[in-house]
Order: sequence, then structure tokens, then C-alpha cells
Amino acid sequence: MPEGDTILSAARRVGHALVGKPIVEIETPQPRHALDRWPERLGGRAVRAVDARGKHLFIRFEGDLTLHSHLRMTGQWGVYRPGERWRRSPRRAWLVIRTEQHEVVEFDGPVLELMTDSRTRFDRRLAALGPDVLAGGFDERRFLELLRADDQTRGIGDALLDQRNIAGVGNMWKAEGCFSAGIDPWRRLRDLSDDEALAVTRELRPLMLESAEGRRGTRWVYDRAGLPCRRCGTPIRARGQGDDNRTTYWCPACQA
Ligand SMILES: [Zn+2]
Repeated sequence: MPEGDTILSAARRVGHALVGKPIVEIETPQPRHALDRWPERLGGRAVRAVDARGKHLFIRFEGDLTLHSHLRMTGQWGVYRPGERWRRSPRRAWLVIRTEQHEVVEFDGPVLELMTDSRTRFDRRLAALGPDVLAGGFDERRFLELLRADDQTRGIGDALLDQRNIAGVGNMWKAEGCFSAGIDPWRRLRDLSDDEALAVTRELRPLMLESAEGRRGTRWVYDRAGLPCRRCGTPIRARGQGDDNRTTYWCPACQA
């Protein structure tokens, strides 16, 4: 599942291809969008900005119109040269934006909607997002406020996945962040100090920012159930956590 670093990287690539470039054509091949008339509504408008917030991506056009997307488990953004072969079938394309030099394609997009800029600020789901883990000035105080307002019997691993506490962290980075900070993901919030909670985000941010730049670091625990810990050799444990039963990975020695 794409996490915040993947979306930030996509926003940069899509922005590079679209911002300030004349749009030649917009297509919405998916029948679900056939009546939305996006090609007509967006025709002739330039793209002002492309930005990410958590796992959400926004393409902001002139004239107060913004395309909002969320990839959920399956979606993907692609940026291609004209005529270059797409990495997924054209039948899975939901949105194609063409310039003279690029084709920007969203595949398998379960959330793709055109909204006004002001609605992107007031939309209930978007307004409920916690601070963006990758934002330039990550708001630690707000993160702690939200964490302390949450159910204090919740494990930190589970709470980190809740986009209302912090936006952009998914299952892999949750596991890696807890490992880096030496925090057991099962520790209840009430047993976790503010400094310990912040230790996780302070470990996570540089790792995710490096990943958004295309540098993939070591996976210490994620998807390594039963394998020896790369630091101490203890077998990595894995178990479903939280209401959604997302698998959590941890080293019982390094994160004791
Ligand atoms: Zn270990």
C-alpha cells in the first residue's frame, strides 16, 4: 500500500510534468467518470501546483478547481514520455493528462474527484487528517494533542496508522519507525511518554523523506517474521494489531 513517501514522490514527479506546462489533453477512460465532463471543465486551465498531504494527492488547476486522489491499496501514479509503454494496462487507467512532453496517468484510482480549492480545506475527511509526517514543519505539539485525545489503551503501532493522529504513516513505516526508536508497537499510549512518542516520528521523518527521494534503506523488521533481527539476531515477531488487524512486526529484544 502506498504510504506518504510514495505519494510525496509521485506529487513531485507529477508536478514536474504538469506545473506551468500547456495541457494538451485530459482523458477519463473509466466509465464511472464518463458524465463528469472533466475534459471540458479542465480544458484550457493550467496546473498551478501539485501537492501531497499524508496519502492524499492534489492537482490544483487555475480557477479554483482541484483533482483530489487517494490510491488506497491498489492505485498508482505514472509519469511517462509520449509513446512510452505504461507499466499497467491502459484499461486500468482512470485519468490521463497529456502535455507535449509527458503523459501523467492514474491507475486503479478508487478515490478521484474534482473539487473546489476551498472544499479541499473544509472537506470533513481531509480536515480530520492529523499533521502530515512529511510536512516541512511537522507539528509535534498537535500530534501529541491528538494522540492524548485518542483511546489510551490503544497500542502505539495501531495509533500511528490512524490518519487522524498522523497523516502519511502506513503499515511498513509504522513497524520501521517503532523499531528505530526502540519502542514496542504494543505499548499502550498511556504507558508511553511524550518523548517516546516523538522519538518514533523523529526517527520516521528522515527515513521517509529519504525514501521519497528514491533512496531505499534497510528494512529492519517489516515483512521479516521469523527471520533473525538484523541488529541482535532474535527472531522477528509478527501479529495482527488493531481493529483492522494489520500485521505488526517487531524485535522482542530490541523493542523490549
Ligand atoms: Zn533485535
